[in-house]
Amino acid sequence: MNDLIEPAKPGFTQKVIRYTRALSRWIKAGRPVRGESEIVMIFESHCQRCEAFIERNSSCNHCGCRVNTSHIAPLNKIAMATEQCLLEKW
Ligand code: SF4
Repeated sequence: MNDLIEPAKPGFTQKVIRYTRALSRWIKAGRPVRGESEIVMIFESHCQRCEAFIERNSSCNHCGCRVNTSHIAPLNKIAMATEQCLLEKW
């Protein structure tokens, strides 16, 4: 049994706030990025198979961030080395 408490699904305002905080953390840390192979592995092994993944806009329904295989960090939470999955899948 999973002991994690599922975070509430964010509304639009919450998504904007979470994205802004993630971007701020990433910039303050010096903009560290994950390698391309790690990004692809995380996306294909976790996000793409996750019940929270919204294929229509390639985003996560828990945090509201975009998750994809782009190495352009502001467009992809996975690429930001400062970020993790809210459900601790990666
Ligand atoms: S970030 Fe986590 S919860 Fe969101 S889609 Fe990816 S694996 Fe699922």
